[in-house]
Amino acid sequence: MFTSPNPLYVQPKVYPVDEHQISSDKIDPNAAYVILKLRQAGYKAYLVGGGVRDLLLKQNPKDFDISTSARPEEIKALFRNCILIGRRFRLAHLRFGKKIIEVSTFRAGDTGVADLIVRDNVWGTEEQDVLRRDFTINGLFYDIEHQTVIDYVGGYTDVAKRVLRTIGQPDVRFVQDPVRMIRLIKFCARFNFDIDSSTFQALLGCKGEIIKSSSVRILEELLRMLESGSAKTFFHLLHEYGLLNPLLPVVANYFSHNPDNEILALLCEADAANSKGPLDRSILLSAMIFPLLRHRLLQRAQKSHQPFHLGIIQEEASRVIDETFSPFFLLPRRLSGMVSSILTSQFRIQPLDDKPLRRPKPPRDPMFIYALHLFKLRAKVQPDLLPYYTLWTEATFGQEPLPMPPPIEPEERRRPRRRRRHHEGS
Ligand code: ATP
Ligand code: MG
Repeated sequence: MFTSPNPLYVQPKVYPVDEHQISSDKIDPNAAYVILKLRQAGYKAYLVGGGVRDLLLKQNPKDFDISTSARPEEIKALFRNCILIGRRFRLAHLRFGKKIIEVSTFRAGDTGVADLIVRDNVWGTEEQDVLRRDFTINGLFYDIEHQTVIDYVGGYTDVAKRVLRTIGQPDVRFVQDPVRMIRLIKFCARFNFDIDSSTFQALLGCKGEIIKSSSVRILEELLRMLESGSAKTFFHLLHEYGLLNPLLPVVANYFSHNPDNEILALLCEADAANSKGPLDRSILLSAMIFPLLRHRLLQRAQKSHQPFHLGIIQEEASRVIDETFSPFFLLPRRLSGMVSSILTSQFRIQPLDDKPLRRPKPPRDPMFIYALHLFKLRAKVQPDLLPYYTLWTEATFGQEPLPMPPPIEPEERRRPRRRRRHHEGS
């Protein structure tokens, strides 16, 4: 076990508005209201993290997070629209219509010890709160009242120089929470920033640690990246830096042996499509698995001389999905069911034996529209598929353009199993 001499930056650098030029009308009014109300109640409160970074980069932040000296219960007492969530990381969620503003209490996360962090609820000062964050560009506070950016870690100049650097010693920070390595690659793909050399060396040295982290958190980061518009670059870098192999070895093996990588070509089209409105996660995951399934079916077809019916294809699709995710991830059952259906329908739209086109009868399956969305991506990569796409969309929707799939109802919540009390009989 090794420790990091955690640098404490006693005096932060403070950047005034004429330098940082963040215009106050870019700040979410609900976030501003929460900060001012916390301050009026006598607490410290700042905008923090990705929101400040994006404002400096002149991008529209996805979310506005707030960091405060108020404890979770104190935040709850101040706001009626507040619920407290999380065990590993206790947070307040303030709901404004559909929007949620996340408010977290300053905490002293970085122990300086290279060991996996399992809980992160030790309260601290504002300076400690910055030091527990992942990268310098994510460690900036914005003080709404004085319109200043407060920088304890050199994040302001790193944004300007477009450099990704961990806060603290990078190998320690990656061992403490290996998801930070995925986040590093995510920011690299999204902003096209350089990685500082010691952070990069630590990434290469610590990549094996990735499977020690929670597969649920990593799956969520991967799914978000599929939706992000930078999926192609992200998965390319994940492979290049050696993190794809421990997570998705089947996909990594495909990347290594297929120079004209169809998965990346489909993700590139998905990135373009996502910029107009995000495609469903089931379609995006199917784009990642389709080339693996087709490769497998073509191999099987060479050996057996019988045509495959859709039942066999569906079985093979389920097997490929299992093999792709099983070493590390547990794909939610409903998502894997949707992916299997989307994949199987690809061979209804264009049969493996390339039968001549006939006017098709669209199936009643509500998942078929999802399958057409994947086929549309495939036809962008491979234009000779376009006649199949046109034929099936016309048969299903006439001259109308392909609509977006309907939103999926949240999974019905299972009734929690009643826990047996000690005094209850056996
Ligand atoms: P995005 O734009 O994708 O939301 P983000 O940086 O805002 O990027 P969030 O997941 O919203 O990412 O996290 C908010 C902030 O919390 C980050 O900016 C960072 O300061 C901190 N943070 C998030 N994950 C970690 C982590 N694993 N370790 C340390 N700090 C983290
Ligand atoms: Mg964020």
